[in-house]
Amino acid sequence: MPLLHSITTHTAYLPGANNLGVVLTGDGGAIAIDTGLDKDTGRLLRRALDEAGLHLRAIVSTHHHADHIGGNDYLVRNLPGVSVYAPRIEAPLIENPLLEPIYLALGASPPAALRTKWLMAKGVPVDHLIDGNIAEIAGLTLEIIALPGHSLGQIGVAFDGVCFAADGFFGPEVLAKHGIPYAHDVAAQMASLERLAARDERFFLPGHGRLTQRSDLSATLQANRHAIERAMHAVRDALAEPGDTPAVARRVQRALGLTITGLPQYAIFVSAVAAHLGHLEMQGDVTLVMTDEGAVWRSGS
Ligand SMILES: [Zn+2]
Repeated sequence: MPLLHSITTHTAYLPGANNLGVVLTGDGGAIAIDTGLDKDTGRLLRRALDEAGLHLRAIVSTHHHADHIGGNDYLVRNLPGVSVYAPRIEAPLIENPLLEPIYLALGASPPAALRTKWLMAKGVPVDHLIDGNIAEIAGLTLEIIALPGHSLGQIGVAFDGVCFAADGFFGPEVLAKHGIPYAHDVAAQMASLERLAARDERFFLPGHGRLTQRSDLSATLQANRHAIERAMHAVRDALAEPGDTPAVARRVQRALGLTITGLPQYAIFVSAVAAHLGHLEMQGDVTLVMTDEGAVWRSGS
């Protein structure tokens, strides 16, 4: 069985813990949509393209998370002439991956536990910034879909009846595992789900989860909305008593029955809880106040 799975005439993907999208330029070239966690996923993508007789011309990085850009360095170093494209606001984080563990460490120089490949890829220069809703890449015109929320400026890519949706939605099996579908901005994340719901591509490829047909998209997006609402309720319920962000995170973790073993996963989880607290504050449901105990969230405005 070939490594690369064909989707439509001009699209394919390399399935994995992180699905990597491939757009075929029609003249033997290929554009990769994300490159996975590390040099191993980069190498596997290279092998998959070799096997299919395709030459990598460009990489589109949908957002800066380490599990989406980790193969960039290997591919750019080993395949001459590959250009990297990324959304304008994500580019600095793709070029300077230390910024991800820095923001997860409250802006401080991050502890060793957060300097792992799960949070910190190798940086590569971004050759072309993506602005607006089309990108001309390797002779093709790709449609760019703004999918912020999961990350500050995440994008999806649509071409030939396929929407490469990055982490704009997750497969139901992935939602069940994670407790909170990670967001930096919950309102933007929910708006991006609606943007995806309005698309009419035949196939939707999430970064994590199965290739989804249009007919199954509504149910999958609904599962994403439910997971976000469940997390939001758990955060609101956690504020029956005031608490600082780590205390709220602890209560939410218990309420959702989540086992979190690693520090990187814990840092991401606390960040996701903080995003929900920020969202509830915008709605006037919670307030952050300064007390003798430090900055504490409490119910009400
Ligand atoms: Zn992500």
